[in-house]
Amino acid sequence: QMDVYVSSGQSRRYDPINPDAYRQLCTDRRALYQQLIDLRSQQNKLSKSLALAQKQRNKQQPSPSITDQRQHAQVLKQSIRSCEQQLDQVESQLLQQSLSLPNTIHPDAPANEPVLVKQVNGPPMSSSCLDHVALNDHLHFMDLEQASRVSGASFYYLQGMGALLELALVQYAMQKAVAHGFYPLMTPDLVRTSVVHACGFQPRRGESEQIYKIQQDDPKDKDGLSLVGTAEIALAGKCAQQVLPEASLPRRFVGFGHAFRREAGGRGQETRGLYRVHQFSKLELFVVSTPDQSDTLLHDLVALQEDIFSSLGLTYRVLDMPHHELGASAHRKFDIEAWLPGRQAWGEISSTSNCTDYQSRRLDIRYRPTHPEQHKENTLFCHTLNGTAMAVPRVLIALVESFQQPDGSVLIPAVLQPWLPGQPTVWTP
Ligand code: AMP
Repeated sequence: QMDVYVSSGQSRRYDPINPDAYRQLCTDRRALYQQLIDLRSQQNKLSKSLALAQKQRNKQQPSPSITDQRQHAQVLKQSIRSCEQQLDQVESQLLQQSLSLPNTIHPDAPANEPVLVKQVNGPPMSSSCLDHVALNDHLHFMDLEQASRVSGASFYYLQGMGALLELALVQYAMQKAVAHGFYPLMTPDLVRTSVVHACGFQPRRGESEQIYKIQQDDPKDKDGLSLVGTAEIALAGKCAQQVLPEASLPRRFVGFGHAFRREAGGRGQETRGLYRVHQFSKLELFVVSTPDQSDTLLHDLVALQEDIFSSLGLTYRVLDMPHHELGASAHRKFDIEAWLPGRQAWGEISSTSNCTDYQSRRLDIRYRPTHPEQHKENTLFCHTLNGTAMAVPRVLIALVESFQQPDGSVLIPAVLQPWLPGQPTVWTP
């Protein structure tokens, strides 16, 4: 399997393990396993022969042969214990390394650069305009200064129309998702760290950790809690250790939660205003399916995202993401970027991934096939997919920058008006 991994170019994605060291561990495991079988078989034979000898023994005077056999049994017992310990160690190293392996890559995923799938709602607006931080001077929809005193840099208060727009965006996207058959959930923002790792959010070589961990009160609790980087983690966790009937798949969930990101390391212009913050509200789509459904479902998720962003009137483009952008869990991924006129640049507003069986193997999410006779196993691993329905801050940036008017007002997209008090068509400072 390691040879397939290396020869298929999977190791180009990123290199979490050394293939030679991994192969050596596999060889050691096989050797130790064989040694254990041999030792146990010797132990079996010896205990049978001891039992026979004891039946025929001279009660007063144990025969020299029985004494020798007992000594040999002691030696065998110790060898077995030591072999078991070595095997445990090798297996736990192998498990650690195997868990750090990324998912396989879809053969159609681009190798090096993102591929433009389509661009929608006209050419990017290039006329001179203000960015969202400059617009805030008269719109007063966010308070960055006070937030930096209260929580630190890259935190924010949304206020007035900013606060109402967050709720309107979430409500709008939520009703779209529910209309498409997604089951609504409000998800926990704190989850066990093992669930975070099982979803593929692992510290990677050369990358700083994105996840905020909570200081543990109980030293015996090895797992501990983490603040989720996305509701995807809590949604995947909701399906953990379940066996679902095949006929019930695909199952679609939409979860609202807060996303927490450490975002260590400065990123210049990206840290201005709301673009790259430590906490934001996010509505997340999550689907559990059979393996043969997941390719089509990935395109369905992109179509739903496009429906949301195009009806808001945003100028956006869809990108098929290359190998090095797939993280640990994705087999294939499409990003949507909106044109942000204030920056005169595209900015990612959503991401959709097919994680195939990467998360379901780690979280034990299975299905029971309708026709078990067609399969070797009674239960099979599901596929999981996730996608952003609404990550508020960047969509807010795109809206205020795209729909600003020369008089300083901002037009409110028609689809959001029903979700705002008084149904305003224009936001006048
Ligand atoms: P991800 O889960 O990293 O694929 O991100 C999903 C979406 O969340 C992105 O497309 C962005 O719209 C948004 N996002 C990610 N990180 C941040 C951040 N630090 N600040 C604001 N929005 C973010």
